[in-house]
Amino acid sequence: MNPETLEQLNAAIRDIPDFPKEGIVFKDITPLLLQPEVFKLAIRELIQTVDGQKIDKIIGIDARGFIFGAVVAHEMGVGFIPVRKIGKLPHLTESISYSLEYGEAEIEVHRDAISPGDRVLIVDDLLATGGTAAATIQLVKRLGGHLVAASFLIELTFLNGRDILGEDVTVHSLLSY
Ligand code: AMP
Repeated sequence: MNPETLEQLNAAIRDIPDFPKEGIVFKDITPLLLQPEVFKLAIRELIQTVDGQKIDKIIGIDARGFIFGAVVAHEMGVGFIPVRKIGKLPHLTESISYSLEYGEAEIEVHRDAISPGDRVLIVDDLLATGGTAAATIQLVKRLGGHLVAASFLIELTFLNGRDILGEDVTVHSLLSY
């Protein structure tokens, strides 16, 4: 990515201290969404992370992953798959529970969304501890999908999230903090 693009993306992320609880610096992507040219740059750079590779489907993770993932899918001309928090998908699902810093979370995907051999790209706004992305990767594997990469707008590198995604997983992030 050229330095100018990096600077534009960086400037469009707002830090909100102590949200949703004390000690967390929340990376607010809504200013970026309000700037169409910067939003476009973010989508272009996310697509660039898998340049030249065959992708059949994009997975977006609930909820901000839907915003970026759906636009990436639309631009690439491939299908979009929502991975949702439990209880929202109406058809047959594959689900997985995983640990959060405090407590448990559960996400699910429609079983017929991924066919064996599908080449899948995961897109989300932010990689923190990696728990959510790791669970999503397990869902892709269970349904026989081939994970090409996981691409994030932001990575909080001090949380080492990419380490729990597995050595065989290619991880890309546009902005690192
Ligand atoms: P994790 O499972 O810890 O990698 O967290 C992943 C999800 O939590 C991401 O999809 C983010 O949307 C959200 N998240 C975690 N930490 C932050 C943060 N500091 N700022 C904004 N979003 C966050």
